Amino acid sequence: MIQGKNFIGGRWKETPKTYQRENPARLEEVVGLYPLSGEAEATEALVAAREAFPSWKRTPLLERAHILKEAAKRLATRGDKVARDIAREAGKPLLEARTEVRRAMDILEYYAAYAYTPFGYRVASARPRTELRTQRVPLGVVALITPWNFPIAIPTWKLAPALILGNTVVLKPASLAPVGALHLVQALEEAGLPEGVVNLVIGPGTPFGRALEKAEDLRAVSFTGSVEVGLRLKARLASLATRVQLELGGKNAYVVWKDADLVLAARQIAQGAFFYAGQKCTATSRILVHREIYEAFKETLLQEVGQLKVGDPLEEDTQVGPLIDSTAWEGTARWVERGLRDGGRLLIGGEGAREKGYFFDPTILEGLDLKALLAQEEVFGPVATVHPVTSLEQALEAVNATRYGLSASIATRDLGIAKRFLEEAEVGLAHVNQPTAGVEYQAPFGGSEGSGYGPKEQGWAALEFYGDWKTLVITPPEVRDGH
Ligand code: NAP
Repeated sequence: MIQGKNFIGGRWKETPKTYQRENPARLEEVVGLYPLSGEAEATEALVAAREAFPSWKRTPLLERAHILKEAAKRLATRGDKVARDIAREAGKPLLEARTEVRRAMDILEYYAAYAYTPFGYRVASARPRTELRTQRVPLGVVALITPWNFPIAIPTWKLAPALILGNTVVLKPASLAPVGALHLVQALEEAGLPEGVVNLVIGPGTPFGRALEKAEDLRAVSFTGSVEVGLRLKARLASLATRVQLELGGKNAYVVWKDADLVLAARQIAQGAFFYAGQKCTATSRILVHREIYEAFKETLLQEVGQLKVGDPLEEDTQVGPLIDSTAWEGTARWVERGLRDGGRLLIGGEGAREKGYFFDPTILEGLDLKALLAQEEVFGPVATVHPVTSLEQALEAVNATRYGLSASIATRDLGIAKRFLEEAEVGLAHVNQPTAGVEYQAPFGGSEGSGYGPKEQGWAALEFYGDWKTLVITPPEVRDGH
């Protein structure tokens, strides 16, 4: 069993109270015992981060990069163990958990590479013999709040850009799956990260949020999670000089155009909607199919979905694991009921067994109005709706007609259709002949409209959030009267 602890000021610390985390696929198995941190632990971590900042920001960039690269190597040595822990705790199928751990290592190396690229720039000054240049500087203490569904990749894609720029960090992973963050922080400690530079606080979000509101010199908060929690947090921090970045939910559409490769589209939708039981912000949840091929496509899609392997995440061929907990299972069942009440018809799935774990079958409904709640709101489970469309205008209107704006895809062979889709889909990520789920860490990532707020994550874009531009103006002292 994992014995998790907080990591504050360079020391692993216990708390008076603890909580247990069960395996969502085998309810009798306890996988972890974790600290139930409150406001006091969060405050202690914020103070430790503040104290560590002056020295970390002066640490040479190449030394900071070396620590990130070394942490990637340390993660590699325990890669399979990390993937298995994530599979057991977060219910993520092993295949995807391994990919996620690999991605965390790559992200550490990617941001380490910032140390070897040119940065800052010089511009002409209107003043004689004056040098006018810019330099990126760290902010100070930043707090990172992460969800349970990418337990190591999301902490890493926030932490690595924050650290390379010289910020110090307090990381709060979701209490449902802290194990990824725990391994990441252990790897950084082994890599020689000085004490206080990264602090890990495990426990529920509410007291952590309260500590942030009272923190001195908290310069930034990066949050990934639900719309409701994210917006509330932003409102509570509004009176502080703290910058906030929110990455939130999605209601992602996949358009199947009449000329599409139907098998390819069906495979991408089956994977995008149902791998990891649809528990991804970029999961496909609305399938918009050209009316001319609607019936033929439905048949192909149901065949693909029928072949998905639902099972224990630790089995090598499992593609659809359990939902994360009983609340998620009950919420998914309620969403299906709601869809049926609003006029939907089940094409496949609709129920699940929850005696051994929180399993729910891949589920597709048709016949719902696009304005129905199930076609508008995020389920965060293996449920998608399918709708016929007759024109690109209608498809785009449907793609854009939710409060979200994260990811959208179209399957087509027509370059004109593809280009119009890319231009007019109001989302942070628009794809042609690619699933809605899946991101590459070297490109900016994030939602528009209700799916995100603030600068994007990943790629070099992430540096915008974690750094400030400082302008340096230098004139030699002997320059007088403009000469
Ligand atoms: P969540 O319930 O909003 O929780 C996210 C994080 O916020 C957790 O660490 C949670 O801690 C913490 N939290 C809760 N209340 C808080 C408060 N008052 N102050 C500060 N922190 C607080 O979301 P989730 O269920 O973990 O994740 C699922 C959601 O994340 C979905 O909506 C999904 O679409 C979204 N998501 C978005 C992206 C993206 O990049 N756009 C990526 C992945 C997931 P506790 O849970 O421990 O209380």
